[in-house]
Amino acid sequence: MANVESFDLDHTRVTAPYIRLAGVKTTPRGDSISKYDLRLLQPNQAEIEPAALHTLEHLLAGYLRDHLSDVVDVSPMGCRTGMYMAVIGEPDEQGVLRAFEAALRDTAAHDRPIPGVSELECGNYRNHDLQGARQHAADALAQGLKVQQTVLIER
Ligand SMILES: [Zn+2]
Repeated sequence: MANVESFDLDHTRVTAPYIRLAGVKTTPRGDSISKYDLRLLQPNQAEIEPAALHTLEHLLAGYLRDHLSDVVDVSPMGCRTGMYMAVIGEPDEQGVLRAFEAALRDTAAHDRPIPGVSELECGNYRNHDLQGARQHAADALAQGLKVQQTVLIER
Protein backbone atom coordinates (compact mmCIF):
# COMPACT_ATOMS: atom_id res chain seq x y z
CA MET A 1 0.00 0.00 0.00
CA ALA A 2 1.22 3.51 -0.74
CA ASN A 3 2.67 5.51 2.12
CA VAL A 4 0.28 8.12 3.53
CA GLU A 5 1.81 11.21 5.11
CA SER A 6 -0.78 11.65 7.85
CA PHE A 7 -0.08 8.17 9.23
CA ASP A 8 3.46 9.35 10.01
CA LEU A 9 2.26 12.29 12.12
CA ASP A 10 2.52 11.67 15.86
CA HIS A 11 -1.05 12.59 16.83
CA THR A 12 -0.12 12.53 20.53
CA ARG A 13 2.40 15.34 20.09
CA VAL A 14 0.26 18.06 18.53
CA THR A 15 -1.74 20.77 20.27
CA ALA A 16 -5.07 21.75 18.69
CA PRO A 17 -6.42 24.03 17.40
CA TYR A 18 -3.82 24.52 14.68
CA ILE A 19 -2.97 24.59 11.01
CA ARG A 20 -0.23 22.29 9.71
CA LEU A 21 1.39 22.08 6.31
CA ALA A 22 1.06 18.35 5.64
CA GLY A 23 2.88 18.35 2.32
CA VAL A 24 3.52 19.94 -1.05
CA LYS A 25 3.11 18.07 -4.35
CA THR A 26 4.48 19.17 -7.69
CA THR A 27 2.40 18.35 -10.75
CA PRO A 28 4.00 17.06 -13.98
CA ARG A 29 3.66 20.63 -15.34
CA GLY A 30 5.58 22.08 -12.41
CA ASP A 31 2.74 23.62 -10.42
CA SER A 32 2.67 23.01 -6.70
CA ILE A 33 -0.31 22.00 -4.56
CA SER A 34 -0.12 22.34 -0.79
CA LYS A 35 -2.11 20.24 1.63
CA TYR A 36 -2.98 21.52 5.09
CA ASP A 37 -4.56 20.12 8.22
CA LEU A 38 -6.99 22.57 9.81
CA ARG A 39 -7.37 20.90 13.19
CA LEU A 40 -10.05 22.13 15.56
CA LEU A 41 -10.05 19.52 18.32
CA GLN A 42 -7.34 17.58 20.08
CA PRO A 43 -6.94 14.13 18.46
CA ASN A 44 -8.29 11.23 20.50
CA GLN A 45 -9.73 13.52 23.14
CA ALA A 46 -12.77 15.05 21.48
CA GLU A 47 -14.72 14.91 18.21
CA ILE A 48 -17.12 17.10 16.27
CA GLU A 49 -20.64 15.67 15.98
CA PRO A 50 -21.40 14.67 12.36
CA ALA A 51 -24.13 17.27 11.82
CA ALA A 52 -21.96 20.14 13.09
CA LEU A 53 -19.01 18.92 11.04
CA HIS A 54 -21.22 18.79 7.94
CA THR A 55 -22.30 22.39 8.52
CA LEU A 56 -18.68 23.45 9.12
CA GLU A 57 -17.88 21.89 5.73
CA HIS A 58 -20.59 23.94 4.01
CA LEU A 59 -19.60 27.21 5.71
CA LEU A 60 -15.82 26.88 5.46
CA ALA A 61 -16.12 25.93 1.77
CA GLY A 62 -17.21 29.48 1.08
CA TYR A 63 -15.59 31.48 3.86
CA LEU A 64 -12.10 30.04 3.40
CA ARG A 65 -12.25 30.92 -0.30
CA ASP A 66 -13.21 34.47 0.72
CA HIS A 67 -9.92 34.82 2.59
CA LEU A 68 -7.49 32.61 0.67
CA SER A 69 -7.14 32.35 -3.09
CA ASP A 70 -6.83 29.17 -5.13
CA VAL A 71 -8.39 26.80 -2.59
CA VAL A 72 -8.99 23.47 -4.33
CA ASP A 73 -10.84 21.61 -1.60
CA VAL A 74 -11.85 21.72 2.07
CA SER A 75 -13.08 18.40 3.43
CA PRO A 76 -13.84 16.93 6.85
CA MET A 77 -11.36 14.55 8.44
CA GLY A 78 -12.82 11.10 8.98
CA CYS A 79 -11.70 11.26 12.62
CA ARG A 80 -13.96 14.33 12.98
CA THR A 81 -11.37 16.55 14.63
CA GLY A 82 -10.92 19.00 11.77
CA MET A 83 -10.66 19.58 8.03
CA TYR A 84 -8.20 18.97 5.24
CA MET A 85 -7.48 21.75 2.76
CA ALA A 86 -5.75 21.59 -0.61
CA VAL A 87 -4.61 24.86 -2.20
CA ILE A 88 -2.76 25.69 -5.40
CA GLY A 89 0.72 27.09 -4.84
CA GLU A 90 2.62 27.49 -1.59
CA PRO A 91 0.91 30.20 0.49
CA ASP A 92 2.89 31.08 3.59
CA GLU A 93 1.76 29.46 6.82
CA GLN A 94 1.01 32.73 8.61
CA GLY A 95 -1.24 33.74 5.73
CA VAL A 96 -3.09 30.42 5.89
CA LEU A 97 -3.42 30.83 9.66
CA ARG A 98 -4.92 34.31 9.29
CA ALA A 99 -7.29 33.11 6.53
CA PHE A 100 -8.50 30.20 8.66
CA GLU A 101 -9.04 32.51 11.65
CA ALA A 102 -11.01 34.92 9.47
CA ALA A 103 -13.11 32.06 8.06
CA LEU A 104 -13.79 30.80 11.59
CA ARG A 105 -14.86 34.31 12.67
CA ASP A 106 -17.29 34.41 9.73
CA THR A 107 -18.53 30.92 10.66
CA ALA A 108 -19.01 31.81 14.32
CA ALA A 109 -21.07 34.84 13.27
CA HIS A 110 -23.09 33.12 10.55
CA ASP A 111 -26.77 33.81 11.26
CA ARG A 112 -28.31 33.24 7.86
CA PRO A 113 -29.40 29.99 6.18
CA ILE A 114 -26.60 27.47 5.65
CA PRO A 115 -25.51 27.62 1.99
CA GLY A 116 -26.19 24.60 -0.17
CA VAL A 117 -28.77 23.00 2.08
CA SER A 118 -31.41 21.43 -0.11
CA GLU A 119 -32.05 18.01 -1.54
CA LEU A 120 -30.75 19.34 -4.87
CA GLU A 121 -27.49 20.76 -3.53
CA CYS A 122 -26.41 18.42 -0.72
CA GLY A 123 -26.02 14.69 -0.16
CA ASN A 124 -27.57 14.72 3.34
CA TYR A 125 -29.39 18.01 3.63
CA ARG A 126 -31.28 17.09 6.82
CA ASN A 127 -28.04 16.44 8.71
CA HIS A 128 -26.90 19.92 9.76
CA ASP A 129 -26.27 21.78 13.00
CA LEU A 130 -25.58 25.50 12.60
CA GLN A 131 -25.40 26.20 16.34
CA GLY A 132 -22.90 23.40 16.80
CA ALA A 133 -20.76 24.60 13.90
CA ARG A 134 -20.78 28.17 15.22
CA GLN A 135 -19.81 26.95 18.68
CA HIS A 136 -16.87 24.89 17.41
CA ALA A 137 -15.62 27.87 15.41
CA ALA A 138 -15.94 30.19 18.41
CA ASP A 139 -14.25 27.68 20.73
CA ALA A 140 -11.24 27.30 18.42
CA LEU A 141 -10.85 31.08 18.18
CA ALA A 142 -11.13 31.45 21.94
CA GLN A 143 -8.40 28.86 22.47
CA GLY A 144 -6.12 30.55 19.94
CA LEU A 145 -4.86 28.91 16.74
CA LYS A 146 -1.22 28.36 15.92
CA VAL A 147 1.02 26.90 13.28
CA GLN A 148 1.83 23.31 14.24
CA GLN A 149 5.06 21.77 13.00
CA THR A 150 5.01 18.14 11.95
CA VAL A 151 6.23 15.74 14.60
CA LEU A 152 6.94 12.38 13.00
CA ILE A 153 6.33 9.11 14.75
CA GLU A 154 9.64 7.54 15.78
CA ARG A 155 9.58 4.01 14.39
ZN1 LIG B 1 -23.80 18.76 2.39
